[in-house]
Amino acid sequence: MGEADRSPRVANREEEGDSAQRVEQASGRAELSSYELVNHWFDVACDRLELRDDIRAVLRSSYREVQVQIPAKLADGRIHVFSGFRVQHNGARGPYKGGVRYHPEVDLDEVRALAMLMSWKTAIAGIPFGGAKGGINVPARDLSPDELEKITRSFIDKIEKVLGPTRDIPAPDVNTNAQVMAWMMDEYGKLHGYSPAIVTGKPISLGGSQGREAATGRGCVYAFQEAAKRLGLEPEQTRVVVQGFGNVGSWAARIMAQLGCSVVGVIDADGALRAERGIDVEALARHLRDGGRLPEFDGDGVEAVSSEEALALDCDVLIPAALGGAIHQGNADGLSCKLIIEGANAPTTPAADDILADKGVTIIPDVLANAGGVVVSYFEWVQNLQHFSWDEDEVNQKLARIMRRAYQQVAERAEADTVSMRVAAYELGIERVMDAARTRGYLQA
Ligand code: NAD
Repeated sequence: MGEADRSPRVANREEEGDSAQRVEQASGRAELSSYELVNHWFDVACDRLELRDDIRAVLRSSYREVQVQIPAKLADGRIHVFSGFRVQHNGARGPYKGGVRYHPEVDLDEVRALAMLMSWKTAIAGIPFGGAKGGINVPARDLSPDELEKITRSFIDKIEKVLGPTRDIPAPDVNTNAQVMAWMMDEYGKLHGYSPAIVTGKPISLGGSQGREAATGRGCVYAFQEAAKRLGLEPEQTRVVVQGFGNVGSWAARIMAQLGCSVVGVIDADGALRAERGIDVEALARHLRDGGRLPEFDGDGVEAVSSEEALALDCDVLIPAALGGAIHQGNADGLSCKLIIEGANAPTTPAADDILADKGVTIIPDVLANAGGVVVSYFEWVQNLQHFSWDEDEVNQKLARIMRRAYQQVAERAEADTVSMRVAAYELGIERVMDAARTRGYLQA
């Protein structure tokens, strides 16, 4: 095929791939950290937007990065010192917004990367928030509720000055849930008075929103429905594999199953399952809620397999909903799906993205696919500020409208510019943040 025969889409993708390879080589590792990965896509989009270096420097860097010491006496009688982080990336479009992750591998770079993703995500969804993220490097799964409560309260005491309902509003992420948000709200309230709008993802009894728990998974399903129209996928014939069966993965799996899809593979940190005719994901969710482990689930036609095997199962849709970097250059070629819906943040490395594009796999990127959580967090915040609550139908309808609008805007841009949905989404997000920053006077030439 001659140069002239190349479609612009292929040419652009190769440019992206070359640059991905360069970053991977420059990093001296086979794979990229979340921070390198998010910066890679930021640079690809900025190159296409022809942004000047000084503008990029403002948009790339965080507005504020807080790191605090959290000493906690644990069950072993010893004092353990953890690090807590809150990074506020960009607040041009509204108060900082983003989840708090509890995981032993949390570090400043990861939190920075995830905060930057939030700035683009809120802009792509068109909701009036900036981007932030938080985390503590705790082994949350090994700690008791009492230990987690102590650590959570200590974290809020140390970062409360940079939080506030019109300043920065945390939410759940990996290993944090409605209970953790309740402790955060309570601790903040001791210092500032009753402030339900200080966190989202709270229990309903404390001002949480109907529909928030399922929102990220449900948003993934709305994105699926839009993609299915374009790819000609019928739910009844759609086979789904889900990696991660926590908040995002379990709700995505359950709602996909409600549509008529077969969930043929599920993977979590403990292992993986497959079932040719589909796994009863409602029963699996009950099994886990009752304290069971995933590989021990006993269902009709269900067998335990390795995580690698489950990820590579023949399916139409793969939903990575666990941690970053799950799809990398070592396993991308072995995947047998048509569509990837990124429930997790940064699950696909640029090299894997390139391999998947060659295989003709469509990717709905994280900044679009998993925006449902922050969209319903926005609804929760609005309800809290108005001291009024909406029913679940109203929440879901409003969520569907926003997810469909965002999907269409990204898909139209991808088509018009002949780029991937990821690059189109980043372009859209960066443009909107830049526009707000410029209008406020932050980017005076
Ligand atoms: P969670 O803690 O509820 O669930 C995480 C799941 O991932 C668990 O099932 C865990 O077993 C699994 N997991 C962990 N390590 C794994 C491994 N090595 N292999 C396979 N599975 C593994 O977390 P969550 O809130 O569902 O978040 C999952 C992802 O979605 C994260 O990337 C998060 O940033 C992203 N996300 C979450 C929200 C939200 O509203 N909770 C919103 C947007 C994006």
